[in-house]
Amino acid sequence: MNFHILTLFPEMVMEGLSSSIIGRAQDAGVVSVRAINIRDFTDNKHKKVDDYPYGGGAGMLMQAQPVYDAYAYAVNTMSTRQKPRVIYLTPQGSVFRQEMAVELAREQDLILLCGHYEGIDERVLEEIVTDYISIGDYVLTGGELPAMVLVDAISRMVPGVLSNRQSGEKESFTGYLLEYPQYTRPEKWRGKKVPDTLLSGHHANIEKWRLEQSLRRTRERRPDLYRSYEQDRERK
Ligand code: SAM
Repeated sequence: MNFHILTLFPEMVMEGLSSSIIGRAQDAGVVSVRAINIRDFTDNKHKKVDDYPYGGGAGMLMQAQPVYDAYAYAVNTMSTRQKPRVIYLTPQGSVFRQEMAVELAREQDLILLCGHYEGIDERVLEEIVTDYISIGDYVLTGGELPAMVLVDAISRMVPGVLSNRQSGEKESFTGYLLEYPQYTRPEKWRGKKVPDTLLSGHHANIEKWRLEQSLRRTRERRPDLYRSYEQDRERK
């Protein structure tokens, strides 16, 4: 799986994605991440990439030309000839969810476009973007953190990235439920004991306890998700 990130801050995304599991996945060649600096493609002699918005208003907008040329470079230097999906990270997009990560992990190449300032000239978005994705209902200064969030969540769903495939399959949001509480050594800490069932070694009882805890936790913390769980069960 290859990620191509179009950004004005390449060092930010490359540094952010170079450690831990995603860093190791890159070292192993299961995932590749390259950042393409949009500023390298401006035809402005002062390397400017933004300008005032027509009609007035606050802030600056990224211009179409350098964004388009950075995109064209990304496509022309990919190993495949297939036209990749291009995701614009924007607060105006569909809110990112686990099932989107699972679906996007099936792509071979993905281009992630990071905006900055007040955003990007609409004309280049119309020309190249296939998906508009937000990471939540709040406004950040740039698309770099959202792009890193997507790379992380999508990579985890690429076979071979997690050492134990199960750990990606039984987590929160699988089947609309949050994960059950978990414990590790010691058995007793500050007077709190690990639940007896988990120490029993009785596999069926442990599964039953975990499902009950997942249901309770989802009901309490995410009633919206719990409703989806119930509706899904009614349909089956
Ligand atoms: N003026 C834009 C608006 O009101 O929709 C917001 C621009 S924001 C300050 C600058 C850039 O940050 C955006 O172009 C986008 O790439 C990124 N961004 C900000 N919030 C985001 C979010 N919640 N999800 C994804 N990207 C976001």
